[in-house]
Amino acid sequence: MTDRDRPVLVTGGAGYIGSHICKALARAGYLPVTFDNLIYGHERAVKWGPLERGDILDRARLDEAMRRHKPGAILHFAAYTYVGESVSDPGRYYRNNVCGTLTLLEAARDNAVPYFVFSSTCATYGIPDKVPLGEDTAQNPINPYGESKLFAERMLRDFGAAHGIGSIALRYFNAAGADPDNEIGESHDPETHLIPLVLDAASGRRESITVFGTDYDTPDGTCIRDYIHVADLADAHVRALQHLEKSGAPSSAAYNLGNGQGFSVREVIHAVERVTGLEVPVVLGARRAGDPARLIADSAKAREELGWEPHIHELDEIIRTAWAWHQREPRR
Ligand code: UDP
Repeated sequence: MTDRDRPVLVTGGAGYIGSHICKALARAGYLPVTFDNLIYGHERAVKWGPLERGDILDRARLDEAMRRHKPGAILHFAAYTYVGESVSDPGRYYRNNVCGTLTLLEAARDNAVPYFVFSSTCATYGIPDKVPLGEDTAQNPINPYGESKLFAERMLRDFGAAHGIGSIALRYFNAAGADPDNEIGESHDPETHLIPLVLDAASGRRESITVFGTDYDTPDGTCIRDYIHVADLADAHVRALQHLEKSGAPSSAAYNLGNGQGFSVREVIHAVERVTGLEVPVVLGARRAGDPARLIADSAKAREELGWEPHIHELDEIIRTAWAWHQREPRR
């Protein structure tokens, strides 16, 4: 058996984060098998292994894919991720993110897949009492999206205890940037994330960027977030998988993934102006419901236990990779 014969099932592997993980997995000697319904994912982003087109709610398709590829692990990214939509249409989020994850876990159990890495989020914490946030911060999500991810984490814990599935939940802060080789990047439709929207405003794809709130208790009045490069996230997933394989224990654990540094919305806009050399038209707007003033990760546990270290710290460098992708990618 060669290294390339180590198949792993990557649900949502055609999406923004999932596709970067597939590239990192292939580099580490795994064969990433993408399982994706292509509702939000892009077939052109599946470059490092086969594509199994299917929905995580479709148990028969999951069984078929697992029987065909015999994955040694599942990395689970398939999810709906629009916070606002989760408030207006919670059923869509609970069905896909909770029932979908349950269907996948039952398929993992019945097909004897021993390891599971889950794409979780700092949205499971809600509005924190203090920053930076460690993993022991109380998890009190404030929207159905965050609730759905927390439910999934709890199912992982219980499936670990009952069925011996070893799992790691990785709670990301603000995923940003694009593949440094510019092969893949962020192409959401609709796009709601700050950095690609500011790049759109810089390049004239949209008229302006609206700053959601200028009266927060922060130095410049705008919200502070911890932007973590998607390639660093990808590296953490490979390490999480290797950690599970090495320990062999059916335990469940969670790790926060961030740079540990916060940047305000205004700082992001200025960084885009520096990187692109273009002026960004800005509109100062009202707060968006449910936005905490500051979210900054304490990732000490991932550093200690997974040996993970983010390599792309500078905001300008993160934005440079996103800008390169923005210039390459055809209009959304
Ligand atoms: N934001 C903004 N204008 C936008 C989109 C986002 O001011 O058009 C702000 C948002 O309020 C938050 C930060 O940018 O403070 C990052 O938002 P994003 O939606 O990218 O990620 P989130 O932190 O919500 O996961």
